[in-house]
Amino acid sequence: MTFDDLEIAEPILRAVREKGYDTPTPIQEQAIPVVLSGEDIFGIAQTGTGKTAVFAIPILQMLWEEKQRAAEAASEPAEKDLLSWLPKRKDRRGRRHGKPAGKSNRTIRALVLTPTRELALQIDENFTDYGKHTGLKHTVVFGGVKQGPQTERLGRGVDILVATPGRLLDLIGQGFISLDTITHFVLDEADRMLDMGFIGDIRRIVAMLPDERQTLFFSATMPAPIVSLSKGILTNPVRVEVTPESSTVDTVKQCIYFVEKPDRKSLLVSLLREHDDKTVLIFSRTKHGADNISKILIKANINSAAIHGDKSQSQRQKALADFKAGKVRVMVATDIAARGIDIKELGLVINFDLPDVVETYVHRIGRTGRAGAEGMALTFCSQDDHMMIKDIQKVVGRPLDMRLHQS
Ligand code: AMP
Repeated sequence: MTFDDLEIAEPILRAVREKGYDTPTPIQEQAIPVVLSGEDIFGIAQTGTGKTAVFAIPILQMLWEEKQRAAEAASEPAEKDLLSWLPKRKDRRGRRHGKPAGKSNRTIRALVLTPTRELALQIDENFTDYGKHTGLKHTVVFGGVKQGPQTERLGRGVDILVATPGRLLDLIGQGFISLDTITHFVLDEADRMLDMGFIGDIRRIVAMLPDERQTLFFSATMPAPIVSLSKGILTNPVRVEVTPESSTVDTVKQCIYFVEKPDRKSLLVSLLREHDDKTVLIFSRTKHGADNISKILIKANINSAAIHGDKSQSQRQKALADFKAGKVRVMVATDIAARGIDIKELGLVINFDLPDVVETYVHRIGRTGRAGAEGMALTFCSQDDHMMIKDIQKVVGRPLDMRLHQS
């Protein structure tokens, strides 16, 4: 199957082609037609499966088609005459448009809610890429930065809004955003939202949405609280699923290193030297740990940076941009900060610390070996971690390569 078979509108199909994609990923193939038909979705898919396009492409298409219809209706002679008589309002800066600048904008039609700013920026970039020939407007709002530029963009009018929950509620409270006109709502990475304590915020946001809407719900895992949350906000959803256990894990070469904690740093340095042709993402359990690892690597002359929640937004953006541009080869990250990292050619993931749950392991290694490329994941394991290795083994479903490291 190619994108041509998915009945995607010409301006969007052209943008998809310009991005170099012709074959939809399995979840795109399954879910794009369902979303285009207007149904709700309960999607079990993690980052790396191509799920952003599953909601971005159809939302752009539905809104674009609507604008086309509205433009055709407006060009009917009788209506055109009538419209030309309507007075246009001027805002405080003297610009002419239909709404007061910086105040609640009535035109937002699609809302995408996502847990982190990195993810929000990435989704917004996808709307830029796929929507560049549609004339639709979108923007992104997230906390940790000044709100002025965000409210200014909102004041100019947007069709699609990508947001993290806290800043969204804040701007709604100040009257800059109204959710009254939303017809498409996406809840992305619902399990991560729950882990990050956003459940109350989500419920408040959902309560403000019109009942008459399409809802697309995505989560990498489906524990009981997620299922119960989804029941409250979806109407007769179609379930679509790509199982990360088989799809992602299969394309990644995985190796477990049994190493005692004090020896991990020297092992890390020697592995990075051995794999000096690869872009590497290293996972640390804590922010402090991430900083420490990065310092050790810099001392060892390995070009690296750390990214975590205590870094300022501009530091995080710069580190990500440098990593994407290949200026920094090794990135050290905590799980939450790493969720926004989408690097095409990520050759190697190193779990310096093991995560608490096996689903996170699957998420982490899904950062490499994307879209069929071969990836590699190396995991450090100490005496305390043996139980977790058994769980990982179960998920992977085949014997893992295990090595004993002794200094
Ligand atoms: P996502 O799961 O949406 O974060 O997408 C993961 C990566 O796959 C991103 O770099 C996308 O740009 C890329 N991608 C999405 N759809 C396709 C496709 N059909 N073919 C190749 N790459 C894709």
